[in-house]
Amino acid sequence: MTEFIITEDFPKSQVEFDKRFSTQRACYEYLSKLKWPDGFSCVKCGHPDYWVSSKYIYICTRCEHQQSLTAGTIMHSTKKPITYWFRAMWWFTTRKSGVNAVNLKDLLGFGSYDTAWTWLQKLRHCSIRNGREKLSGIVEVDDFVLGGQKSGKRGRGAKGKTNVLAAVEKRGRRLGRIRLQVVPDCSSDSLMPFIEHNVKPGSHIITDGWKGYYPVDKKKYNHQTVHWIKSADKSSVLPGVHLVISLVKRVMLGTFQGRFEPKHLQSYLDEYVFRFNRRNSKSVGKKFMRIVQQVVASIKITHNQVVTCEIPALLLAN
Ligand SMILES: [Zn+2]
Repeated sequence: MTEFIITEDFPKSQVEFDKRFSTQRACYEYLSKLKWPDGFSCVKCGHPDYWVSSKYIYICTRCEHQQSLTAGTIMHSTKKPITYWFRAMWWFTTRKSGVNAVNLKDLLGFGSYDTAWTWLQKLRHCSIRNGREKLSGIVEVDDFVLGGQKSGKRGRGAKGKTNVLAAVEKRGRRLGRIRLQVVPDCSSDSLMPFIEHNVKPGSHIITDGWKGYYPVDKKKYNHQTVHWIKSADKSSVLPGVHLVISLVKRVMLGTFQGRFEPKHLQSYLDEYVFRFNRRNSKSVGKKFMRIVQQVVASIKITHNQVVTCEIPALLLAN
């Protein structure tokens, strides 16, 4: 796996963005810079020299192999100008609580809501990077449910509700990074893979006394169980993860009035995690740059895959 090269080249403000990315040429130049941070190299023969066709295809001067910056990514065979994608990525990353499909449709003047929604889903699927570093240090883990009307029983896949697992790094009194995952239930079969996948061995994990957490590997983790009195607020014993859970619930209620298709919930949570983990980023443009990097390294998703949510697990090809 190649790590993304940190380049600090990103627009610092809306004005700078508007000025810089008003032409297709400028957008393609930026894409090429993020795709080939060390300069162009032909995938076929490794030659460093190229010329760019009028359709922004990069052509090797030695073997004439053609490379498109959008083919094979989520922008595959898009009919809209690349400047539209750039604006969508800018709004997606820089607006405080993101952009919804109605906003995006209006902002870009799309004829259909469906196109705007599909674009947003594709961007959401690019908001999580494979191989990202696991959470470490003190990590609070808990499960909660979203959606549905009635309160259901824990661990049994309460009717009409979706089970979600949350993990949060505690850095003293402050919060670090988070992870959110939709799971079929809260049994240890769901909890253990979530912990193993998201928390670095050697970390100190804090959970409540739910039996699903019993099998946490004592050799890998220092597992602390906290108990709370049923009548009291659970946030008194797991304050970090409970703050995050309440924020997620508020967003889901605010954005979707609590109604959403469970199969799409993970993509909304991925977007939330992207935003949350970059909340202290000083520059709005840096988040934009991250998404462009992840989009240029993504693999194509068909419209049907977006609708059915059958997205390959390894979306990012890097
Ligand atoms: Zn070549």
